[in-house]
Amino acid sequence: MLLGLCGGICSGKHAVAEYLIKQQNFQLLELKNNGSFRTDNDPRLRDQNDTISTDLRLEFETAESLLDFATKRWQEHWVTTHIWDVTTLDRFLQRPFFLLVSVDAPVSLRWKRFAERCRKSQLDPPHLEEFVLWNDNQLYEKDVGRAVLTDRAQLRLFNSSSSLAELHAALKALNLADEQRLRPNWDQYFMELASLAAQRSNCMKRRVGCVLVRERRVISTGYNGTPRHLQNCNEGGCPRCNRGEGGGVGLSTCLCLHAEENALLEAGRERIREGSILYCDTCPCLTCTVKIAQVGISEVVYSQGYNMDKDSAALLEAAGIRLRQFSPPRNGLIYLEESETR
Ligand SMILES: [Zn+2]
Ligand SMILES: [Zn+2]
Ligand SMILES: [Zn+2]
Repeated sequence: MLLGLCGGICSGKHAVAEYLIKQQNFQLLELKNNGSFRTDNDPRLRDQNDTISTDLRLEFETAESLLDFATKRWQEHWVTTHIWDVTTLDRFLQRPFFLLVSVDAPVSLRWKRFAERCRKSQLDPPHLEEFVLWNDNQLYEKDVGRAVLTDRAQLRLFNSSSSLAELHAALKALNLADEQRLRPNWDQYFMELASLAAQRSNCMKRRVGCVLVRERRVISTGYNGTPRHLQNCNEGGCPRCNRGEGGGVGLSTCLCLHAEENALLEAGRERIREGSILYCDTCPCLTCTVKIAQVGISEVVYSQGYNMDKDSAALLEAAGIRLRQFSPPRNGLIYLEESETR
């Protein structure tokens, strides 16, 4: 795999790279003509890649040659901090072995780290305001700002750790080398499709999505809302849902079909045979569970609990249907702190 690290000044991306090299067998790939950010050629802003201590750093003339090299050796572990523009990033992101990770940290902390670095090099540390301006330029300057890169990262690490030991412990727990991040497994794939279906929900009470699968193929999808030709729930179609009463109140007067019901109706009993799996982002309610049992579903996978889980679980067990919870791995913003790793 090839891991790209991006992030602001003193966010800690080099520390992350160094950890990967020392602890997880990664090797460093670099670009010769480094596009590191400079403001008035201030010597304090020179790229700090040389702070990554490693015996082996491979340098390439162009992003293409770097990528070609990694393509032939994708089963080994490579890391680079040298991605500076969107065109290059797009090329990297096309490859199935590439993962972009951004590293960020509170600006006050980054300023302290930066000042420390300046002092070590016998340079005058900048005032906080000057540092903030550099950061604004680096991130948001039109056409060259790095915010467009960090925005595309699949994983966003928030490096608020107070020591290297804490950072290392958090990184160890996170295991960035996990190949699963490169490509979703089947559970993840279908559960994310169910979440996507949920986005289409028009029910005022709760967004739910469902996917029916047989032999790893989608048979149907469904989300909750009022039946066809009726006004959508969110346009006032179901008076019960729009009254905003607590969960379960007035259920018998609800006009909304559940995501599972819609998916089952869409597939039809003929197409649901032995071995079919129902993926739902919420654990099915009792009414849906009865229908799930009747059409011959073999397994139910859900990601979030609901207030009738126990009853549904008992019913499914009695009907000989497997039930398990699967929550997709966390992406997005992850705090690299000790408390998070416990
Ligand atoms: Zn509704
Ligand atoms: Zn309703
Ligand atoms: Zn239901």
